[in-house]
Amino acid sequence: MTMKTFPSALFFISFFVMSSFASSQNVKSASGKNDNILPVRGLCISAPKSKNLDEFIKFINEELAPRSVNTLILMVDYNYMYESHPELRDSLALSESDVKKLVGACRKNNITIIPQIDLLGHQSWASKTGNLLRFYPDFDETPGIKMPEKYVWPNADGLYCKSYCPLHPGVHKIVFDLVDEICDVFETTAFHAGMDEVFYIGELGCPRCAGKDKAELFAGEVTLIRNHLAEKNRKLWIWGDRLIDGRTTGIGDWEGSYNLTYRAIDLIPKDVIICDWHYDRPDQTAVYFAMKGLSVISCPWRNPDNALLQIEDMQRFRSHSTPEMKDRFLGVIQTIWSGGEQFLDAFYGRKAEKGDNTQVNCFKAMFKRSQDKN
Ligand SMILES: [Zn+2]
Repeated sequence: MTMKTFPSALFFISFFVMSSFASSQNVKSASGKNDNILPVRGLCISAPKSKNLDEFIKFINEELAPRSVNTLILMVDYNYMYESHPELRDSLALSESDVKKLVGACRKNNITIIPQIDLLGHQSWASKTGNLLRFYPDFDETPGIKMPEKYVWPNADGLYCKSYCPLHPGVHKIVFDLVDEICDVFETTAFHAGMDEVFYIGELGCPRCAGKDKAELFAGEVTLIRNHLAEKNRKLWIWGDRLIDGRTTGIGDWEGSYNLTYRAIDLIPKDVIICDWHYDRPDQTAVYFAMKGLSVISCPWRNPDNALLQIEDMQRFRSHSTPEMKDRFLGVIQTIWSGGEQFLDAFYGRKAEKGDNTQVNCFKAMFKRSQDKN
């Protein structure tokens, strides 16, 4: 193709894409009678606190259901009154009867709940250590790195979040007790283990992990969790960033990996579901995961334009791929990172988010109500 012909060809491709998907730019119109167009249409949000449960259930009934949302990843972590490990409960955590109300509301509306507990990484946030490492400090991959009184990024320790040591002999007994209990109470066939942004892995200061291949360590942990879930016919979902080469792609060291974990993409079981988050651009990495044999969901955050492009991309990939690959493009899930209560405050107009690129605007653009026009 010469420079002379390039612009007209580009125009043709653009026109074709736009005209093909102009009538199917959100998940409501993409769902309709046919889930084959976009099988997963989801929201990922913190599980509500017990005191906010009723409003959250109202939101499920009155906002998620009419928008054809069919998947709800609930970030639970320690916001549940675990019987197996009461020492790890948050204060004011959800009770079993609270969870059953969520389960009932979602079942009534044909929404699949997928509970999440952050495993491996994200064991601290800013200057606060998470419950697991607070009660079991021996599991810390970097016990020599002390939590700062006032957290700043960047910092000399490269501390983003703490990780647990995947080779500690005691960690999986505790973690799997939690996983089993949360899957049982939510009556679910899938569990989301997080596993994003793992910066501390295979650290030289860890007597078990020092010198080990970081991709093999990451893949080993994914495989162990996957195999545990498979014993009860449950599927593992994870974030995809550690499986992307952040340097070569230019995608960077947050939504891609700079710490050599990315070769794990060839080492993990193919039935792990990948949640491929990209918030600043509609990166085309879903194709990469599908070509590796992994099923994938694109995850926007608060940019409505990019989110609509991610929906179009998913539909195009499903339409134009080989029969082997097309069903691996599962759909889209919006992620909410403000905290669930803050999101509902904004959604119900009690406290507005600033600007146009907001979670609420993105939610409304992606998920139009069934009575809305496209
Ligand atoms: Zn270790």
